Amino acid sequence: MDKVKEKCSFCGRSKKETAILIAGLDAFICDMCVTQAHTIVIDELAERSGGSFKADINLLKPLEIKNHLDEYVIGQNDAKRVLSVAVYNHYKRLTQKSLKKDDDTEIEKSNIILIGETGTGKTLLAKTISKILNVPFCIADATVLTEAGYVGEDVESILARLLQAADYNVDAAQRGIVFIDEVDKIARKSDNPSITRDVSGEGVQQGLLKLLEGAVVNVPPQGGRKHPEQKMVAIDTRNILFICGGAFDGIDKKIARRMQSQTIGYSSSTEREAIDKENMLQYVNSQDLKSFGLIPELIGRLPVVSHLNPLDAESLKRILTEPKNALIKQYQKLFAIDHVALHFGEGVLDFIVSKAIEYKLGARGLRSICEGILTDVMFELPSQEEVREFTVTLEFARERFNKLKLSHLRAA
Ligand code: ADP
Repeated sequence: MDKVKEKCSFCGRSKKETAILIAGLDAFICDMCVTQAHTIVIDELAERSGGSFKADINLLKPLEIKNHLDEYVIGQNDAKRVLSVAVYNHYKRLTQKSLKKDDDTEIEKSNIILIGETGTGKTLLAKTISKILNVPFCIADATVLTEAGYVGEDVESILARLLQAADYNVDAAQRGIVFIDEVDKIARKSDNPSITRDVSGEGVQQGLLKLLEGAVVNVPPQGGRKHPEQKMVAIDTRNILFICGGAFDGIDKKIARRMQSQTIGYSSSTEREAIDKENMLQYVNSQDLKSFGLIPELIGRLPVVSHLNPLDAESLKRILTEPKNALIKQYQKLFAIDHVALHFGEGVLDFIVSKAIEYKLGARGLRSICEGILTDVMFELPSQEEVREFTVTLEFARERFNKLKLSHLRAA
């Protein structure tokens, strides 16, 4: 392009007057016009009530929700049943609201808390439910949240993320689902209310409480810190469903202690024997969450408590192959795009599962192991057009996995 004409086609500023001048086919745009255009786009999207979430909530019956969940999430039947009912009631409450005129019975919101080791499917359950219902969904990490005024993210940032997930459609965001991960990390350190200030724990719990119980919150639509010139969007959190998740390491001991003190004097020895000591999480209740360090007010706003079971070898193997978007199916699809049929020989899946267990990687580790085994093949095969089929044998998988380990060791 001609040097003389290097000026912003929108505001006419010359190159010298701008920090950055971006060249297009027949035009230029300066950094200031880009920023302004971005604001216009955000405002426009916020005002429009259309977008991908215009459709009504896809309200299914609990059994239907559970059946859908079964297509994506392996096992975790207790959590699935509890979630299906809670979500069904929540959205029923939303859709019935208009009928309530002379009816004083207001159905309260049932936010949910899921307790289970990391990588057992808590996020996946929440995400899948939002997909089934066609409502906006976002994930927030409780560990990065801090009380307003401290370094870190304000709790409002969660809503900014939900608004983004809703394509800036405020109505849709107001009936979305927020998954707050690692909520156990903001537990206060002892069961007693703290005397000293606890910036990352109790203060954040108080902040979350406000969102969970329902409030109108001013949210900076682009996230980040509030600053005076930014236009705020008011979000009413009354109908947003919050699902909290956490591993709550060590809560099993608190459950055991509570159950022991309860059984003494109340139950017969046969009842005591029926307790499954291997999986104490299944008995978790609100009292245990309090002993762990969640404040009672917050627990009160999380009336639905459920647990996820640890994943055994059989479940991990099913995760590899059964869900609709199972890993193995994904790799086969990737290979199929290059016209290669991908097969796994005998024992390969068991090998992958055994390594995930051996290295305590859980379901999340399945992917990194598969990547490690298949990366070289995925690198080479697209250039070998004559190859139409590839079988991962146990020997091949072992050899690749060992190399992977070595390279990891080298990197360390
Ligand atoms: P969590 O939130 O409990 O830490 P995630 O839901 O993020 O765990 O799980 C991590 C990944 O592991 C998921 O994206 C999914 O691929 C797989 N996964 C975990 N649990 C299951 C399960 N029960 N069924 C199917 N896949 C699972």
